[in-house]
Amino acid sequence: MASLEGFGIQTLTPGVAAAGAVLSYLSETQRGALGHITSLQCVQRGAHMVVDQNTLRSLEVLRTLRSGQVEGSLIAAVDQTCTPMGGRLLRQWFAYPLVAIDPIVARHQGIGALKESTRGRRQLRDLLGQVADLQRIIARLGCGRGGPRDLLALGGSLMQVEPIREQVDALSALIFAELLEQLDPLPELRDLLGRAIAENCAPTLRDGGVIRDGYNEQLDRLRDIATGGQNWLVDFQKREAGRTGIATLRVGFNKVFGYYIEITHANTDKVPADYVRKQTLKGAERYITDELKRHETEVLGAEEKVKAMEAALFEEVRRAVADKIASIQKTAGALATLDCLAGLAELAAKRKYCRPEMVDEPILEIEDGRHPVLEQTLAGQFVPNDTVMGEKQSRVLVITGPNMAGKSTYIRQVALLCMMAQAGSWVPAARAKIGVADRIFARVGAADELARGQSTFMVEMTETAAILRSASRSSLVIFDEVGRGTSTFDGLSLAWAVTEHMATVLEARTLFATHYHEITELSRVLPTVANFNVAVREWGEKIVFLHRIQPGGTDKSYGIHVARLAGVPEQVVQRSKEILADLEDGFAREMDLPALARRARKQRITQMMLFADPAAEPVMEKLREVNPDEMTPVEALAFLSQLKREVAPDDS
Ligand code: ADP
Repeated sequence: MASLEGFGIQTLTPGVAAAGAVLSYLSETQRGALGHITSLQCVQRGAHMVVDQNTLRSLEVLRTLRSGQVEGSLIAAVDQTCTPMGGRLLRQWFAYPLVAIDPIVARHQGIGALKESTRGRRQLRDLLGQVADLQRIIARLGCGRGGPRDLLALGGSLMQVEPIREQVDALSALIFAELLEQLDPLPELRDLLGRAIAENCAPTLRDGGVIRDGYNEQLDRLRDIATGGQNWLVDFQKREAGRTGIATLRVGFNKVFGYYIEITHANTDKVPADYVRKQTLKGAERYITDELKRHETEVLGAEEKVKAMEAALFEEVRRAVADKIASIQKTAGALATLDCLAGLAELAAKRKYCRPEMVDEPILEIEDGRHPVLEQTLAGQFVPNDTVMGEKQSRVLVITGPNMAGKSTYIRQVALLCMMAQAGSWVPAARAKIGVADRIFARVGAADELARGQSTFMVEMTETAAILRSASRSSLVIFDEVGRGTSTFDGLSLAWAVTEHMATVLEARTLFATHYHEITELSRVLPTVANFNVAVREWGEKIVFLHRIQPGGTDKSYGIHVARLAGVPEQVVQRSKEILADLEDGFAREMDLPALARRARKQRITQMMLFADPAAEPVMEKLREVNPDEMTPVEALAFLSQLKREVAPDDS
């Protein structure tokens, strides 16, 4: 191709250079065999959400945090695909969720149509189950490494395309019309593969028997000679045993000496004169005759010819496949998409997911939402919860409650539901209305980072910094216990400031789970902050976790209760209660929380006034004009009084 314009990437100079470098590396390492690389596609940043590695890890989208296993991750809980291609594509969908409403809705609609038609879905999935990993096969064939079984599997898979098309044709959703166009059953290639490749062929060409009988006349004739050879040998052995009277006479073959007649030493005296000795073994002698030698030449020749011919025919078929690589790739892509949609529909039906309504405003309404992974582990025990976040109210949710109550589970659940919806999936809830997020951020415990040589607190702050710098008004952010890894006052101050910043400056939808119940004070002065807590029931000295999220803050941490649950000796539990009482007393005296909250409000009001209030403009104007360096102290004081009179005439 002479120009890159067809790919729409002509202006992406660094991108083109990077793609060129990759291609050149591949061409060097794969010895130029890159027939399967047929096109170049630019993944538009704007079309996909950039989910950073920390968030992917924190939300355990592809692997779990602790063990790094796929089992227990989101993808393991939602993957119901029938093909490896579908599985790979689903991982992509979840790692790169969409940000434009239309393509998201197209997937949701497709899942809807498949969910409704239980029979059609089952038939489609049965057919998909018989499709091989076409993308891998094509890659192998493209590099010249594909074997006979690749061609066999390709042929078998192409046979499924026509019946799959029939199923897709019966489904009414926009996305299926597009997929139908891409699904090419390639009838000629399919028939060629069906005719040419033997059903139970060996894995490699070397072993022979790859080309089907009846495909090529000349090959069939040569095979007759080669296998007729076997019959002839049996007959020959019988004849010679009769002629010599040696019942134990055997005819055999080995690679070094070729065909031979083997006779035990006990029978050497019966060996006829026309036998020529070839080899002496411990208990036997091996001979050859003219007749056997003639046969050897003929058979070996035929076998060699069969192999050469098979190799030539195989190459011919492989070339026919290579000619269609682009169509096969397109078909494979469409099959993978269908597999994802059908798998997600199966999941939605099995797990009673709902179709989320997607909107273009920063809100969130979830009724009876469930954590997609935990609800499977806990079977019927999972407690569903609601979430409501609005533009003006409850934009920042502060969630308090004791350890083990379910705070982390809840905030992750909200982030996961949004991510699932934007990946195109339905969601585990009774009802959901989701405002599309430009980014989703998750900052949760980083206990395992120690292995990477960074202190937990440093990691926590680095991740928090990244979020504070990148989140926007349409982002969704979850923070789990920010400020935990340092002293109480340090931690509380940081947690407080971060929440305040999210609410007043970034205005991103934020769920902030914290054991610092002091932060609930913020909701008194910031209208977009709302408090929620995880319900617990106290039974005398004990507590029972209800895992239900309810409005309002907590004023207790219950840490000591949890310590008791964990088996900390009673003496220590009692002593810590005494210490807590003392500390709380001192803390209340030292730290005036309502005053702190009021200051937060004042700061915000001042900011708003200075930057947004038109009444403040004359004051701003005067401030801009004045030069303090040229003023005497008295002049400065007079100026200040004048300003004060302008903004607050009643005070003077
Ligand atoms: P926290 O963050 O408050 O310390 P977690 O979210 O880690 O608590 O939850 C602790 C445990 O409680 C979870 O491992 C889970 O077993 C259980 N749990 C949490 N939420 C629910 C729920 N909604 N329904 C049932 N069990 C839950």
